[in-house]
Amino acid sequence: MTTVGILGGGQLARMMALAGAPLGLRFLVMDSVADACAGQFAPMVVGDYTDESALAEFASRVDVATFDFENVPAESAQWLTSRVPVFPNPRALATAQDRLAEKTLFRDLGIPVPPFAVIDTREQLDAAVAEIGTPCILKTRRLGYDGKGQFRIKSPADIAAAWDALGAQAAKVGLILEGFVAFERELSVVAVRGRDGEFRAWPLTENWHVDGVLSASLAPATVDDAMAATAISHARKLAEALDYVGVLALELFCRDGELLANELAPRVHNSGHWTIEGSETSQFQNHLRAVLGLPLGDTRMVGQACMLNWIGAMPDANAVLREPGGHWHDYGKQPREGRKVGHATLRADSAQELIAVLERAGVALGRETQVAPVVVRLQG
Ligand code: ATP
Ligand code: MG
Ligand code: MG
Repeated sequence: MTTVGILGGGQLARMMALAGAPLGLRFLVMDSVADACAGQFAPMVVGDYTDESALAEFASRVDVATFDFENVPAESAQWLTSRVPVFPNPRALATAQDRLAEKTLFRDLGIPVPPFAVIDTREQLDAAVAEIGTPCILKTRRLGYDGKGQFRIKSPADIAAAWDALGAQAAKVGLILEGFVAFERELSVVAVRGRDGEFRAWPLTENWHVDGVLSASLAPATVDDAMAATAISHARKLAEALDYVGVLALELFCRDGELLANELAPRVHNSGHWTIEGSETSQFQNHLRAVLGLPLGDTRMVGQACMLNWIGAMPDANAVLREPGGHWHDYGKQPREGRKVGHATLRADSAQELIAVLERAGVALGRETQVAPVVVRLQG
């Protein structure tokens, strides 16, 4: 019996445990809170990721360790490697945890990025805004997620407010200023690399965010083959440079037909949730196959899929359950403003069918505005 240890017990760990059950796998989840939602399906070690005794107990009970939470301290991940195989490796994790290291790697690999500058002081911020121009975004280098730890600077008049909001973070987690990309689309590549270096990617996904949080994903993205190939080759270069094992996601902006890299997620990703029903092998199962050294599964799509995120509270399930191709995921979390509590995936064999399903479900859910941009894209 193989036990997979997962650091972080959120919905990603929960869906990993569900995907691993048919493979006969056992799971052990470590999280700092006892009511983490993956704990409903797997035993838990409750403890801080820097607590050596909790980490030692975790390591003693698992055959391999991986992550649901990308901000597990890289030193803790490194400490674990002396006791148990850890995938992805701590260097890959550390790179993806720091927007500066991540963007520097993108640039070194020839992957285009928006202009960026490290910010340690208010003077540097003034100079960097002058250099990069407005609009631009000040972001924390570490620990940001769902658009948290970001301030949009629309004109130089906003610099003072940006520094008020984030300046104190400069000494703690570091800051980076990025040029604002007036993108036409946001895309992501979800891909997997095995222990033997085999690389596979799912079809490109288009994503829509609201207030910095993912709202909807559509796969396959309606982009030409050349752009899809470029995006996938960027992800492959990164995976190879980091000797990455497991699933990763590369977030990209598309502007004037050019791709610019935003960030790398060193884990299964929200924009890949559609793969559970929309692909031959889900990102969760392929992540497990990769970290266990098993053959990777086919990443081919089955029709077309749209994923809708439920933020704050779950809507009425029946509106989705009554749809052919409608799939419901309730993470078993307490409702809370801004929290990802579940998602739905709507799958159909053609764009026309998917439009019809989205329009019906959108009305029944009272989520017309959430489905609208996806419908517009599908209508071409
Ligand atoms: P995630 O939850 O994806 O990890 P995050 O907090 O790490 O989010 P980003 O992905 O950097 O943050 O930003 C969230 C969203 O904000 C992006 O998906 C995009 O919509 C917008 N955004 C971020 N940076 C830029 C930029 N430089 N130009 C334009 N929009 C941006
Ligand atoms: Mg991020
Ligand atoms: Mg992001």
